Amino acid sequence: MNEFRDNGNSGHNGNQNKNNRKEGPMNKVLRFSFPFIGPEQRNTCKTCNGPHHSIRCPLPSWEFRRMAKDKNLCELCLNEGHSVQQCNSTFRCGYCRDRHHMGGCKEKEYYRDVNNYPASAGPIVGQELEETFFRGPSQYHH
Ligand SMILES: [Zn+2]
Ligand SMILES: [Zn+2]
Ligand SMILES: [Zn+2]
Repeated sequence: MNEFRDNGNSGHNGNQNKNNRKEGPMNKVLRFSFPFIGPEQRNTCKTCNGPHHSIRCPLPSWEFRRMAKDKNLCELCLNEGHSVQQCNSTFRCGYCRDRHHMGGCKEKEYYRDVNNYPASAGPIVGQELEETFFRGPSQYHH
């Protein structure tokens, strides 16, 4: 994958500034980034130790970053013992494609608002469990 950085404009002020350089979020992971309603069987959050994958951590991004820092976790892969500069992970944030974990991304709150969720990303995984959990218009009324 190409090194991609967009240091210019990372604001989200409506659609008036559509910048083609920006690839936008990775739809494939975006679908899985919303918190599930119930606990997850096999996942434990590396940051808060809750029963969920770190990508779905319900903590606000700033608190996620603070907690990971307090625990000395790499801000990219959330393992202990090295910094992001030393990290071998090729992972990139699914929201902004920068080198940090999605749980602490400043764009997390933006994309967790279903009003900002790109329709092209497909149905949100987990949303069907409890439609009212997610704000915004629901597509799931039967
Ligand atoms: Zn968590
Ligand atoms: Zn790392
Ligand atoms: Zn990010």
